[in-house]
Amino acid sequence: MEQVVMNTALKESESLLSEIEHKSHVDVKKCYQCGTCAAGCPVSYVSDFTPRQVVKMLQTGLIDEVFKSHMIWLCIGCGNCVARCPRNLNIPHLHDTLRILSKEKGYPCAEKDVDIFNDSFLKTVQYTGRLYEAGLTMLYNTRSGHFMAGMDVAPGMFMLGKISPFPHLIKGRKEVANIFKKMREMKGAK
Ligand code: SF4
Ligand code: SF4
Repeated sequence: MEQVVMNTALKESESLLSEIEHKSHVDVKKCYQCGTCAAGCPVSYVSDFTPRQVVKMLQTGLIDEVFKSHMIWLCIGCGNCVARCPRNLNIPHLHDTLRILSKEKGYPCAEKDVDIFNDSFLKTVQYTGRLYEAGLTMLYNTRSGHFMAGMDVAPGMFMLGKISPFPHLIKGRKEVANIFKKMREMKGAK
């Protein structure tokens, strides 16, 4: 019988899919495309792809398209899809993994503001040990260029005591900062 030689692109796509499945603990081959996740997803209607389509693209090797997609950034991690999936696929975890890998592999981010927001959120947690709402707003607004974002509701929230100009520092913030440090060391980042 003639030996079939797998072409390089196919091999690369298969090894990338293995990496995605290994890191996300999601076996995309289990999905039988019932569409239940897409039907319950609150962001599908504003996105370029539904969660079902993201899984289908992974199954068929369209990994570049997935890395460039808006869906992996627009997913809000609500868990509707996991709760309803008959195959128990953890789609939000899959999307988280895809975000991380797309950044690591240098793909252009389809939703830069989401990336900036996530990063600003984590920075406040790193330095104060918990979310610092005013700090997050300042960081996000300056880094994204949306200088007035949230300014319409901020005075009312200050008046109601829902946000404070100063951070509430927790006791174990040194330990929290160490978690970030350890993660950076593990990834070999600065
Ligand atoms: S609900 Fe689960 S099995 Fe059905 S399409 Fe979505 S991921 Fe696939
Ligand atoms: S977790 Fe993400 S993909 Fe799943 S339903 Fe919610 S927004 Fe949609």
